[in-house]
Amino acid sequence: MNEQFDIIIIGGGPGGYVAAIRAAQLGMKVACVEKRGTLGGTCLNVGCIPSKALLESSEKFEDATHHFAEHGIDGSVKLNLKQMMARKVDVVDKLTKGIEGLFKKNKVTWLKGLGTITGKNEVSVDGTKYAAKNIVIATGSAVTPLGGITIDEKQIVSSTGALELSAVPKHLVVIGAGVIGLELGSVWKRLGAKVTVLEYLDRITPGMDNEIAKNFQKILEKQGIEFKLGVKVTGANPSKSGVEVTFEPAAGGAAETLKADVVLVAVGRRAYTDKLGLESVGLTTNKRGQVDTNAHWQTAVPNIFAIGDVIAGPMLAHKAEDEGVAVAECIAGQKPHVNYNTIPGVIYTHPEVANVGKTEEELKGANVAYKVGKFPFLANSRARATGQTDGFVKILADAKTDEVLGVHIIGPQAGNMIHEVCIAMEFGASSEDIARTCHAHPTYNEAVKEAAFAVAGRAIHM
Ligand code: NAD
Repeated sequence: MNEQFDIIIIGGGPGGYVAAIRAAQLGMKVACVEKRGTLGGTCLNVGCIPSKALLESSEKFEDATHHFAEHGIDGSVKLNLKQMMARKVDVVDKLTKGIEGLFKKNKVTWLKGLGTITGKNEVSVDGTKYAAKNIVIATGSAVTPLGGITIDEKQIVSSTGALELSAVPKHLVVIGAGVIGLELGSVWKRLGAKVTVLEYLDRITPGMDNEIAKNFQKILEKQGIEFKLGVKVTGANPSKSGVEVTFEPAAGGAAETLKADVVLVAVGRRAYTDKLGLESVGLTTNKRGQVDTNAHWQTAVPNIFAIGDVIAGPMLAHKAEDEGVAVAECIAGQKPHVNYNTIPGVIYTHPEVANVGKTEEELKGANVAYKVGKFPFLANSRARATGQTDGFVKILADAKTDEVLGVHIIGPQAGNMIHEVCIAMEFGASSEDIARTCHAHPTYNEAVKEAAFAVAGRAIHM
């Protein structure tokens, strides 16, 4: 038997590495097992970070090619995709190395290799055994496969391949109008591809407030993205001349085909527990493939915990990070809390879409009486000055108590703006509390203040 640790964390993504650092801060002897050559998991290596690097670069390109002229800036630009990709790689490299540095600083041991649970207090890393008082499973998620379609990461790609295309496809067909499909579809649309999104449901972004989703679809259509809703993709056949995608109406009917240069499969992700050895300690996964835990992130084996995408809840890096902090504190005997009702969700398209708390549909479903306050960016002076007037802020507040129950923003920098309401909700704020908090002028956030005023029917600038 090799070294003994207080905690061995399996997985070095945002859940795992954060848990490792927090546990080390609390004085524990910590190891984190990661089989990828770099730390940071899907998020840093092939998810959140490289996609945001390309979203930023492609937005600059879109601005330069379509919007500079209106600002009185003339001249032509041309795309250097190789440089754009090199910059993305550099951003990822610096951040993953940064985590390595944080591990060194906090004296966290990185065990490189595939981690498998081989006993209640034992983890094997590529065959070498280590003892652990506690084990934290933070193995994340993997792409959900789509029956009849083989991902080759060249012509038929997952998000990973879509971040590495060596040329702009003439026609990109995206399967799935969820977060990944719309973010990466936006990247390639801005760089010049024709983009068609095929979605099984009769709406985009399931789970999002309906009114916001409808508005979002209109904005994306205005940008040139085409949608075919209510269709089920049944196959994709690659050949030298491209990929033939077959789909049929979700309700049944005649099949149709579409020709694409590249197909992006973005139909969701599944909890990842391959070769984890759960069975060695009598653990099983639930019918969604997730590891079940109690409110303290503890599995049925009391010293084995699980956090992040591998357990229930939204598959979001920041949710995993908060659970990472909390699980380390639990193991240290503290009593942390994660408020799942105030976890924001952000789609980093242009404009961005952000939400926290309940949707209007959820409130209706739960028979909660609510009031709505809305304010459009068209009436926000900062948005007028920057020319980013698409979208609006929508605040849902309890009809009786005025407590803020949900906030949905589609608009410029929505992903940054949502946090003022996350904090407000964390402190149990009413819409009046937000309305009476001084907001700097001229800022996009004034639209949040105005929407809060609008809950009581007294927006000033509308
Ligand atoms: P998703 O669950 O967001 O969307 C998948 C979409 O595919 C759904 O709309 C679904 O109805 C559709 N679909 C399923 N089967 C289909 C079929 N056969 N034909 C057509 N459409 C079909 O999944 P995703 O976009 O792949 O993202 C995966 C996960 O990664 C999500 O949990 C997401 O939260 C997370 N993620 C988050 C961010 C972010 O926070 N900005 C970014 C990327 C990914």
